[in-house]
Amino acid sequence: MKKNTSFLFILICTTILLSSCARGLSERDKLLLELNEPEYLMAALWQQTSSEYRALCYQAFNVARDRIHLDLMKEWPKPRAVIIDLDETLVFNSPYNASGVMKEQNYPQEFYEWIASGKATLIPGAKEFLEYINKEGYEIFYVTNRRDESTDITLQQIIDLGVPQANSEHLLMRGTDHTKQGRRDKVAEEYVVILYIGDNCVDFLGDFYNASIEERKGVVVRNKEKWGRNFIILPNPMHGSWKKALYYGKGNLTDAEKLQLKIDLLETVDE
Ligand SMILES: [Mg+2]
Repeated sequence: MKKNTSFLFILICTTILLSSCARGLSERDKLLLELNEPEYLMAALWQQTSSEYRALCYQAFNVARDRIHLDLMKEWPKPRAVIIDLDETLVFNSPYNASGVMKEQNYPQEFYEWIASGKATLIPGAKEFLEYINKEGYEIFYVTNRRDESTDITLQQIIDLGVPQANSEHLLMRGTDHTKQGRRDKVAEEYVVILYIGDNCVDFLGDFYNASIEERKGVVVRNKEKWGRNFIILPNPMHGSWKKALYYGKGNLTDAEKLQLKIDLLETVDE
């Protein structure tokens, strides 16, 4: 903890120093300097310290529970299931990402060591919801895009976290199905999938995978009746396919080019 505090102190001092050095630079160059901070810093702080983050998680699982209440009044020709993602939907990885800030490293560096460490905790509200639907007889499928090599440690992790139906039949790893659509379709052959729960739009529809910002916004609008009904989404400002969309169609970019692109994407009152 002390190490983290020292890092933040040095970061703040560096920012102040850079700001004072920035006098004489153009306004745009100053903006570039201010924005060139470790990518996860504010996102991780928000996720770890804000009451808003926790409230949004509880809100998501309360909405999910209400949808189940309604569903229980219906009859279906097939058994019912819920599909839920793991990272940032069930498993809280923010300490891993915060360590990335300190070490200046990015996913997947040391991610699988973090999973194996057993230190990850649960997203607020997730376990209570899963216990409830388990009691009501729903099948639960954990659909993750973690690499297949991590199957054993992933299974052990969900067992240790104490969530229901944590077994190999209910854990669907990535394989070559990057969009998750193949696994969703497979489950839907045998079950009526009442809810999809995730933090990344790819957890709901394959159309979000490898698509531009505008295409992704279009998919959201075309499916607007499903959010909060069939699709339950949790907040995650740290990572996801939305970040890839920032650079969609741009090829390989340097860090400086990525930064410039991010600034160019910002909509401001001057434009
Ligand atoms: Mg996720």
